[in-house]
Amino acid sequence: MRSLPVRPAPMVDEMIQSLAVRTAAANFAHPNQLGLPTARGLRTEQRVAARLAELLDMPAEHLTSLTLSAYPPVLRGEAQRRQRTWLHRTEWACPRCSRLNGVVLRRWQFSLHPLCVQCPSLLTVVGTHREDSAPPDTAALDAQRLIAQDLEPERLHTAGAQRRFADLYLLCELVSATVDQDWPRLPGWEHDLRAELSQPRTDWIRHPPSSPDRAATVVLECGRALANPARQRLLRGEAIERLAARDDDAARTLLRRFTPGAPDTERRRPQVPSQRTQPVLASLIRAIQRLQRTRGLQPRHVPAWPVDATDSLIPTRDRRRELEHRAVTLHVLLAGRWHDPNAEADARRDLGLRPHPRKRNAMLDGAVDATRAAHVVRIAERLVIQGLIDHHDLRRRLAAPTGLVSTVRQKVTGLPIASGVVLAAWCRLHQSPGPADEVTLAGVRALDCDLDPEQRLFLLEAIDNYLEAVDPARLDSFQPAIADERTA
Ligand SMILES: [Zn+2]
Repeated sequence: MRSLPVRPAPMVDEMIQSLAVRTAAANFAHPNQLGLPTARGLRTEQRVAARLAELLDMPAEHLTSLTLSAYPPVLRGEAQRRQRTWLHRTEWACPRCSRLNGVVLRRWQFSLHPLCVQCPSLLTVVGTHREDSAPPDTAALDAQRLIAQDLEPERLHTAGAQRRFADLYLLCELVSATVDQDWPRLPGWEHDLRAELSQPRTDWIRHPPSSPDRAATVVLECGRALANPARQRLLRGEAIERLAARDDDAARTLLRRFTPGAPDTERRRPQVPSQRTQPVLASLIRAIQRLQRTRGLQPRHVPAWPVDATDSLIPTRDRRRELEHRAVTLHVLLAGRWHDPNAEADARRDLGLRPHPRKRNAMLDGAVDATRAAHVVRIAERLVIQGLIDHHDLRRRLAAPTGLVSTVRQKVTGLPIASGVVLAAWCRLHQSPGPADEVTLAGVRALDCDLDPEQRLFLLEAIDNYLEAVDPARLDSFQPAIADERTA
């Protein structure tokens, strides 16, 4: 493969697509003519990076490090939907700098960076026109710089920075739920910007706002508050008060997540059988409750097989049994039902696991020793870092995926021979690891061996597209298009 005559160098933190467009322009071509896809998406970026490596004669790893995938999951989310992600669905660029040099930065693609701090400007959504607004004032720029510190490469992957991203998101969710023209109190420029917005409400619970002005009126103030304990207490307190004044289900659900010491769970003490397991269980309960309160972890975020990076697509039988035990334990704890003898059966049903032959209680049987407790806490922390994927929803949508199988067969040609059941199970295991019968698992294993890397990539992309297409992005009004297990 020959490289191009003109090969522009990537700028610091430049988006890979921006580099692709500049490369094409410098060579008087359209990106498509050079085999560079122009669509957005984490997986398209990988293809752009691979192709640019050839065209620019640069190491592939270097270009891959310029994609959004190089950011931690707490920021970019996973390819699956229904989870917290800072990644918005429009493309933001600087109305001044990008117009001059054609460069679009990666950090601008996250809703925590609505300002260009160089010129400085409020960013714009590419392809839309906005009247030139007044440049951000010092207060706004300082807040933006404060948030941006954690985006610097040397900090980005530290646990502290990731915790701050998660905290910031949570605070934005809380504040945005009752934001209006007068609250929270904002400094001059942000206040004026909010006054221009017809309806200031931004529902971060579904996804971050897709326009920079809406993001700026929430994220900058939340960033300031996070850096100052007194200010944070005040903002949280006011937000909770405003939520409590609203009398609807959504507000009550939010309140439960944000107010410590929610009822039920703390009043009832765990009833555990032995002196030995009691302290372990009590400290496990505390750890899980803390994650629930501060991070919003819920039973619906638990996969049936909470695999880690070292697990293969289909873990061994013993390993599966252990993973299922951990999932059930975590589910019961998150449901606050460790004292309830029916909780385990309910958790197994929700996770899509077969009922246990005899009625028992994962907690009361003394089945939680120190090692297992440590694993359960680690799983919970991992689910938070991965961005709280809604596995309950994924399981329901992938339970009878007739449309999925025909879609992927259409989109990916030359697939190895496999039944619809096996293909569907392969897709499901990649989205939400969980049980299937042994025959199907054997088929999935064989199919997985026969796939080449490109087919695998296309297949994963087709699943994403399918899930996007069948889901109109309404979280509250969501009704599964497929029958649940009672009628299937
Ligand atoms: Zn700029």
